[in-house]
Amino acid sequence: MRKQIAAANWKMNLSLQEGETLLETIIKQDGNLSDNRKVVFAVPAPYLVMAVGKIASEPHIHVAAQNVYSKKSGAYTGETSVAMLASIGVDHAIIGHSERREYFNESNQLLAEKVKICLEENITPIFCCGEALPVREANGQNDFVTRQLEESLFNLPAEQIVKVVIAYEPIWAIGTGKTASSDQAQEMHAHIRSQFAAKYGDEVANSISILYGGSVKASNAKDIFGKPDVDGGLVGGSSLIADEFIAIIKALK
Ligand code: PEP
Repeated sequence: MRKQIAAANWKMNLSLQEGETLLETIIKQDGNLSDNRKVVFAVPAPYLVMAVGKIASEPHIHVAAQNVYSKKSGAYTGETSVAMLASIGVDHAIIGHSERREYFNESNQLLAEKVKICLEENITPIFCCGEALPVREANGQNDFVTRQLEESLFNLPAEQIVKVVIAYEPIWAIGTGKTASSDQAQEMHAHIRSQFAAKYGDEVANSISILYGGSVKASNAKDIFGKPDVDGGLVGGSSLIADEFIAIIKALK
C-alpha cells in the first residue's frame, strides 16, 4: 500500500511553549500509525530541534522544515541548508508551498534545485503544486499542474522520484475555508498520477503518495482521504488545533 500521510503545516504560528503542548497532546494519542501510515509536523525553523526531540521515540512521526535553501553552504545569511536540517534529524521538507511561490517568487526552476538538494541529503520533499482560482475557472488546472511537475520534478530519475511526496493544494482552497470537493480532489490526483505513469510507468506512479491540501478539517477528512488517489493531507489551520488534527490522523486510510 502507498504511504498514507497526515502532514501538519504550522506556518508562522504558535509560541515555542504552545508548539510543545500541541505536539505532546497529539503524540500521546494512539493514531494507529505504521510504516504506511505516518504523521509529519512542519514546524517553524526555531522549533525544529524541539520537535525532533519530542518525536524521538516515535518511529512513524517525522519533522519537516517548511522550506530549505537551494545551495549546499556558504555566504547566504539567514538561510538554512539541507545538511543543517539533516544534522538535527529533520527528514522531510515542504517544497514550493504556494505562499512561498507567491510571496518569495519561487519558480518551478528554483524548486527543481530545492527538490534535488533535499534528495541528496535523504530529506523527503513534500512538493506542493496547485492552481489559482482564475486557472480553475478557465479549466486550465490540469495543464497548469502538469507544467509544475514537468519543470520541477520530471528531470529526476525513477529511483529518486519515488522518494518524493506530492501535495496537491488548489490555491483557492488554502486558508479560505473553501475545500475542493472530494471528487475534484480525486480528479486532480488521478491526473497527477497519470502524468507520473506516462513519464515513469505505472509501478512508480502507484508508489507515490499524493496528499490533498486546502481547508482539510476533521469534518471533511474522511470523505477526501477515502478517495482512491488521495493518500492523506497537508493541513494548515486545522493542524493548530489538537482535537482537529488528531481526528484528521484517524481519518487516514
Ligand atoms: C496549507 O497551508 O498547506 C494549507 C492547506 O492550509 P489550510 O489547511 O489552512 O487551508
